[in-house]
Amino acid sequence: MPQIIDGKAIAAEVREGVAKDVAALIASHGLKPGLAVVLVGEDPASKVYVKNKGEQTVAAGMNSWEHKLPATATEAEILAIVQKLNNDPAVHGILVQLPLPKHVNAERVLNTIDPNKDVDGFHPVNVGRLWIGERTLVPCTPTGSVILAKKAAPSLAGMNAVVVGRSNIVGKPVAALLLKENCTVTIAHSRTRNLHDVVKGADLLIAAVGIPEMVRGDWVKPGAIVIDVGINRVPSANGKTKLVGDCNYDECAKVAGAITPVPGGVGPMTIACLLQNTVEAAKMQKGIK
Ligand code: NDP
Repeated sequence: MPQIIDGKAIAAEVREGVAKDVAALIASHGLKPGLAVVLVGEDPASKVYVKNKGEQTVAAGMNSWEHKLPATATEAEILAIVQKLNNDPAVHGILVQLPLPKHVNAERVLNTIDPNKDVDGFHPVNVGRLWIGERTLVPCTPTGSVILAKKAAPSLAGMNAVVVGRSNIVGKPVAALLLKENCTVTIAHSRTRNLHDVVKGADLLIAAVGIPEMVRGDWVKPGAIVIDVGINRVPSANGKTKLVGDCNYDECAKVAGAITPVPGGVGPMTIACLLQNTVEAAKMQKGIK
């Protein structure tokens, strides 16, 4: 049996650590970190995420603000809110919930966020800081994925890590983090030849593709650590839908040394790491180590 890496329990540990950090910051510097979330439109999944983020921010002892705009909001209106939050000293983290309506240039909105308040870590300045190894705000899902991998092996140094997927949100930043952990990193994507063989060389596999159960058991090296970032909704036997990852869990679990389930693996780590980033943003803004 592989080690099942319990993302729900580990996310709870991270949130506990954040709450302690917040209490310590308030006591030592009178600094209460605050996160502002901007939600545009009525996307049901986005509304749930934003509600959860707000509740968990408050539960960790931080300030939380939600700015809700209708789907008809203009880009200028959204940019004006972002600028206002950039200039508000009580706001340490700003998150604009994606997706934005089609008439809005999401890149322009994200690039308007002050990099020091960019708790999603998507701003080009933060991407650059990550790759050159400076202190920065790192995207949340990649951070969570590496925390989970380190629960299976505290040192990842020297491992062959294969990341399948090269998005700016997951694949590329997780590759940067694994390089920092001294892995030998391969980034695979839709044009990779013989993907099966590439994956088979992985001591650590990060699957971030968005194709349900693409990675099969016979792709996995015996004993490997498998971190499944994928969240895919597929039809289930009872006529409803269920969530599956990018790896075929039952097959991969037979071969892997450690594996994350879906749901209950990487998913819960994302908001926990967002809270961590809000504390880090507040510290960076005040020059606290
Ligand atoms: P994207 O669609 O942005 O990127 C997918 C990547 O997979 C691309 O780089 C693409 O390659 C690659 N890819 C597509 N098809 C293949 C293939 N057949 N073989 C190899 N590589 C392939 O997705 P995201 O990175 O945003 O998300 C990936 C998964 O992670 C999704 O299931 C998403 O739901 C999940 N996710 C989960 C989060 C969480 O909180 N747990 C947060 C974010 C995402 P190419 O570049 O060549 O097109």
